[in-house]
Formats: sequence, C-alpha cells, structure tokens
Amino acid sequence: MGELKGTATSILEPGQQSGFATTKFESLLAWAQKYSLFMNPFVTACCGMEFMAVSSPRYDFSRFGSEAPRFSPRQSDLLWVVGTIVQRQAPILKRIYEQMAEPKWVLAFGTCASSGGFYDNYACVAGIDKIIPCDVYVPGCPPRPEAVLDGLMLLQDKIQRGDRTPGIVKPRIDPVQAPDTALVQLRRSRTSAV
Ligand code: SF4
Repeated sequence: MGELKGTATSILEPGQQSGFATTKFESLLAWAQKYSLFMNPFVTACCGMEFMAVSSPRYDFSRFGSEAPRFSPRQSDLLWVVGTIVQRQAPILKRIYEQMAEPKWVLAFGTCASSGGFYDNYACVAGIDKIIPCDVYVPGCPPRPEAVLDGLMLLQDKIQRGDRTPGIVKPRIDPVQAPDTALVQLRRSRTSAV
C-alpha cells in the first residue's frame, strides 16, 4: 500500500503492529490498473529489437505488472506502437485501438511512432497521434530500454492521477545541462591515456 500514501490514511492504534488504511475507491482502482496492464504490442519495424530487449529478464517487465502480452485488442488495455507506421497500416492501427475496451492507454515506442522520425515522406504517418490518441511518447531511434521503462512509469503515474494529457519521456541526462556525463568522462580518460 506504499504507493497509496498520498491518498490513503493509515490508522494504527498505539502499541499495535498492524492496522488498516482508508482511501478512495477511485485511487484503489487506479493503483490496481497501473500494476495490471495487459499490453498489445503493435510492432512494425526495427524498434522491435529494442522491444525484445525491454521484455527480457535483464529489464524485468514483470515488476511493473505489465509483462503479459495479449494479441487480442479486446483483452488488452495498453497499446504499444513500436516502429514506423505507414499509410496502409494506419486504418489497421486505428481499428485495433477502437477494438480495445475502455479504459485504454497508448504508448509510442521510438521516434518513428512518436513523430514519423526521419521518414519524412508521403508513405509514412508523421506520428501515431495523427490516427489515435497517445498518452506517452518515448523518443529515441531506437529508445534505450531505460527510456522505455521511464515511459512505462510515467504512464503508471498518469493512471494513478487520472491524467490523460500526453507526456514525453525526457533524457535521463540532458547533455546541455550536464555536459560532464559518464560518456564524456570515458572519452576523456581514453584520450588522455593515449
Ligand atoms: S525509431 Fe529508429 S529504430 Fe525505431 S523504427 Fe524508427 S528507424 Fe527503426
């Protein structure tokens, strides 16, 4: 119940080791929903490789309660759009989204799904939000698994707060704000060693 701290009141009598908590039903429901997401992966392109990496034990999807894929939209509530969407796929993606039951959420995995990426041409859709609503955008070509997990946690936070405004995953380290990153330090150490 630790996650419900902001909305729950824990009642402990003096000298007791256990007690009970009060909360709002909506908060409890949101807490359960965010830890029991059933994903429908709509994988079309090279981001799929990174999606497999995120699904591997190293990054451990299970701890978010969202590792079980459902390949029927009627049984899933989180649509992962992974990769480039071309115009011919657009109606299919829209139909899959419409077949999902409410409440449902959408995550754009990678730059192509988020904005079309460098495929600035007549054949590609310039971001899935041209077709369906999107809750979280995870930029990157492809995004690092850590960024994807950040996106998932951002979505969980939105579900808990009932926030349907779209969110964008920001880099963990902003190279402008923090130029002395680990990568820069590594390069410097290698250069000085030569
Ligand atoms: S964002 Fe990059 S890796 Fe992902 S589908 Fe587009 S081109 Fe491929």
